[in-house]
Amino acid sequence: MVGTLSDTRRHILLAGGGHAHAVALRLLASKPPAPHVRLTLASPSPYNLYSGALPGVIAGYWPVDAIAVPLQPLCTATGTNFIQDRVESISPDARIAHLASGKELRFDLMSLDVGSGIRDLNIPGGSKKIVPIRPIAPFLERWDSLLSHLETAKTRQTVLVIGAGLAGIEVSLALDHRLKSKRAASPQVCLVDTAPTIASECAHTLRRRLSRALQKAGIACLLQTRITNISGDTVTLSSGETVQADFIVNCAGSAPHDWIDQTGLKTINGRVEVDEYLRSTSHPHIWAAGDTAYFKPKPLAPAGVFAVRAAPVIAENIRRYSKNSEPYAFRPQSDYLKLVSLGRRRAIAEKFGITLEGGWVWNLKKSIDFSFLRQHSLPPGD
Ligand SMILES: Cc1cc2nc3c(=O)[nH]c(=O)nc-3n(C[C@H](O)[C@H](O)[C@H](O)COP(=O)(O)OP(=O)(O)OC[C@H]3O[C@@H](n4cnc5c(N)ncnc54)[C@H](O)[C@@H]3O)c2cc1C
Repeated sequence: MVGTLSDTRRHILLAGGGHAHAVALRLLASKPPAPHVRLTLASPSPYNLYSGALPGVIAGYWPVDAIAVPLQPLCTATGTNFIQDRVESISPDARIAHLASGKELRFDLMSLDVGSGIRDLNIPGGSKKIVPIRPIAPFLERWDSLLSHLETAKTRQTVLVIGAGLAGIEVSLALDHRLKSKRAASPQVCLVDTAPTIASECAHTLRRRLSRALQKAGIACLLQTRITNISGDTVTLSSGETVQADFIVNCAGSAPHDWIDQTGLKTINGRVEVDEYLRSTSHPHIWAAGDTAYFKPKPLAPAGVFAVRAAPVIAENIRRYSKNSEPYAFRPQSDYLKLVSLGRRRAIAEKFGITLEGGWVWNLKKSIDFSFLRQHSLPPGD
């Protein structure tokens, strides 16, 4: 058992170094909690990859290292103990987290920011061929190996992207751009979705511009279409047609990790239901934020922007917990500036249905993303 040493300070366990915890740690570094608490961060990786700038890695504009937020320096700056391990389950009443290594961690208070995975499509024959966009690191390994194969491949490459939401559209435009810049034979990128329109959750002004960008790139959209079977490179569609695919990416929407539902915490669609203070509605000594949480007062889309906005609340409530004072409430705005990259050093901005597009929007997105990354990439500490 880890964490039962003679230290009598209350123990706060941060599970997952996602956007919310990384930003909260940076805020705690400049304004620390009272010394009555000690903090531990458990994360399977010493880095968190910043998904907003992922399309730029896929498109070949910057390397993966450029979008990695190193968690250890943030821990060093806040006196947080870093444990490289995955939380596999929790006994919430006993206040114990069970780690993949077999270790157990006792906590007085736990905060969950373990993000999400991608909806499993259960397509017969799909498990080997379909590459989920999350977790990001294994996706990038598969993408890199396809790119190296392209150096020698003579035939035209076909890539299918499942899910025509914002992430699927950004990813398909980035893949298309990279494939075209890599070889002469024109590749075919194709978006597949069961919905009747692309980006169905977005304002129609944004949808129109995205549709134009996809058309311009020559990306085909197979809407109201489901993949029913995959055998080798042959993909069967619900229309009965078959297509050959070299690479298939699953961007079919975020899905909570299965183990969250087994914890005994109250969940809604697999996400931890939290109140306005980000506390579990069934176990208030367990908090959750970002994609892991279902915010009961006002359900939020699983977007990094809400995880980042939850961070000051987590940091402030850790300070308040350390002083036994009342918690502070999360009041997220419902709309936010959407910046969607189009893969060709162009991007679209949308807020309240008003859209703008151009190279300057791409530069703006790049500068916002990299200013976030710079702010959270502290130099290695002692
Ligand atoms: C291609 C793409 C582009 C996107 N672009 C945008 C965008 O432009 N703007 C936007 O707002 N949103 C965007 N999103 C959505 C955004 O990525 C997520 O909403 C955001 O990452 C959620 O942040 P989080 O803090 O919940 O978790 P994350 O930042 O995803 O981090 C979760 C962390 O938990 C760790 N972890 C996982 N399981 C465990 C475990 N069992 N124990 C311990 N640690 C664990 C992981 O290693 C990871 O570091 C995009 C998503 C994709 C796929």
